[in-house]
Amino acid sequence: MLFDSHAHYDNKRFNEDRFEIIKKAYDSGVTYILNASADMASAEETITLTCKFDFVYGAVGVHPHSAAEMDENDIAKLKNFAKEDKIVAIGEIGLDYYYDFSPREQQRLWFAKQINLAKELNLPIIVHDRDAHKDVLDIIKSEQARDVGGVFHCYSGSVEMLRDVLDNNFAFLWEER
Ligand SMILES: [Zn+2]
Repeated sequence: MLFDSHAHYDNKRFNEDRFEIIKKAYDSGVTYILNASADMASAEETITLTCKFDFVYGAVGVHPHSAAEMDENDIAKLKNFAKEDKIVAIGEIGLDYYYDFSPREQQRLWFAKQINLAKELNLPIIVHDRDAHKDVLDIIKSEQARDVGGVFHCYSGSVEMLRDVLDNNFAFLWEER
């Protein structure tokens, strides 16, 4: 069984042929796809994809790149989105100090708030950690994200820190971004 556990088929680069590409992935042997959201619009599109395709599941959340656009209403909206049948995680969320597209303070604030949403809903989280290992771990610990656990991607920290992440109920996967 092939499970693509981290896809972004809602991305605008697939606007022309999104459905065909997803069908092609399935026809080529991908059994399941988990589509992770990047922002609020992408979360809605993710739900659309989960409704259209039996084998597509989704995660709803706002990527650190778009953290500065968030407000409290979005947390309420995400909460509703997450109640949809095939939404199985909150993500992707985290910190990106490589691009710094959102001010770091905003990134930290909305990362913590989305962890708390995940805990309230009892859903695992998909963590994006780019050049922000210490702060990501500090927030994971302070918000007790281990209660829900989840996966890390984009990680490039030390082995010591990796052990710490594993100890906190997280697994790893790799994605170029
Ligand atoms: Zn991703």
